[in-house]
Amino acid sequence: MLTKTLKSLDLALSKKQLRQFEKLLELYLEWNSKINLSAIKDAKETIIKHFYDSLLITQLDALNSKLKLTVADLGTGGGFPLLPLAIVYPDNNFLGVDSVQKKITVVKTIAKELDLNNLKTSMERVETLGQKQKHREKFDIVLTRAFAKWHTLLELALPLVKIKGKLIAYQGPQILAELEQSEKIIELLGGKIQKISHFELPENMGERIFIEIEKIKNTPKQYPREIGIPKKKPLS
Ligand code: SAH
Repeated sequence: MLTKTLKSLDLALSKKQLRQFEKLLELYLEWNSKINLSAIKDAKETIIKHFYDSLLITQLDALNSKLKLTVADLGTGGGFPLLPLAIVYPDNNFLGVDSVQKKITVVKTIAKELDLNNLKTSMERVETLGQKQKHREKFDIVLTRAFAKWHTLLELALPLVKIKGKLIAYQGPQILAELEQSEKIIELLGGKIQKISHFELPENMGERIFIEIEKIKNTPKQYPREIGIPKKKPLS
C-alpha cells in the first residue's frame, strides 16, 4: 500500500527513496508505540494522513528549484511534513523546529537511520528563533502543519521568511473564513496572500488546503513578541 500511495503522487522516486519511506514507516510506528507522538497509530492512516498529506505540497511545485532552498518546518512534532520532504528533496536543506526535546530526539534519530544529511533540527521556541540574526528572514520556505491558531502562526512564521520567500501553511477548510479577517495582519507582518490550493486525501480521509503567503516587506522588529505572547494575545 505504501508504494502504491506514493506512486499516485507521480514523484518518480528512486529505489533508495522508496526504501527510505519503508524504513520511515517502520521506525515511526515503532517510536509512536513507545512514546506518544501522534494519535495516528496504524499503518494505513500513517501512510495517508502523515506521508501522503505531507507530500501533497509536491503538487504545488514550490519546493522544486534548481537552487538549494532552505526550508524550515515549524512545530515539526514527530517529523511531519519534515521527514517525507527531506526524502523527496535531497537537494534542499531542511530545519525542523520544536520546543519538545523528546520529539526532536526522535526526529534526529530517524533522520540518522535514514541517512538524511540534508536535515537539521533545533529544539527551540519559534519566538526565540525568529529574533535570532542567524535565522530571522533567512528561509526560502517556511512550512507549518497543525502548528498553531492562524494569527499566532502568522506572527511566529512570517518573521523567519526571507524577502521573496514564502510561508506555506497546511490548513483545513475552516481557514477560508478566517483568512478574510487576517489580511491586515498578514500585511503588517510583511506578507501577501499569493495562492490557495485544495486537495482531497484518499479514502475520504479529509481535505487539505495550502495557503501560500509571499514575503514582500521586512517584518517589523517587535515580531514575534516574547515567548507565549503570540498565543496568549494573538494579533487582531
Ligand atoms: N507538524 C506536526 C506536529 C503538530 S503538533 C504534525 O503535523 O504532525 C504542534 C507541534 O508544535 C508540537 O509538537 C509543539 O511542541 C510544537 N510547538 C507549538 N508551539 C511552538 C512554539 N512556539 N515553538 C516551538 N514549537 C512549538
